[in-house]
Amino acid sequence: MTAKQKILLSACLAGHHVRYNGSDKSCTANLLQQWRDEGRLVIHCPELAAGLETPRLSAEMVNGHGIDVLNGRAQVMESDGQDVTQPYVLAAWLALKTAQSHGCRFAILTDGSPTCGSQNVYNGAFSGMKMSGEGVATALLRQHGVEVFSEHQLEALKQRLEEIESSS
Ligand code: SF4
Repeated sequence: MTAKQKILLSACLAGHHVRYNGSDKSCTANLLQQWRDEGRLVIHCPELAAGLETPRLSAEMVNGHGIDVLNGRAQVMESDGQDVTQPYVLAAWLALKTAQSHGCRFAILTDGSPTCGSQNVYNGAFSGMKMSGEGVATALLRQHGVEVFSEHQLEALKQRLEEIESSS
């Protein structure tokens, strides 16, 4: 029988109240329920794993996106101006470690987050405006071959799983 691919899942999408403001982003899509029932999901919050507390101040990337933060060319700042680049980079490495230790080749991460965003992130001006880009953990995961999808791309992930599992 073909082994089921494991999927790293943002803890806030799984209903955990771990976001900066103490809320969740619970995703109740049928596909996610199915993957949960199949035992595929590895639930993880990179920011909490790195020691950040809930609630915490909102944070955005300044001067670039996830890959720039990893390369030291951009920073992660909280809304009060504090530089929190270090814990956000640690959060990215802990997400990668978790993915690798569970054999996850795929991830579903919460879009818009400076850590988990994969399609859009906030623009660094704390104005509520988003732009195309990826967060720090997403950039690191992709650098290491993990395919990252947002919560809005579950059908695309379903197709990838079918391709991988039908060829193995
Ligand atoms: Fe959700 Fe990711 Fe933010 Fe944790 S770091 S609260 S999993 S978006």
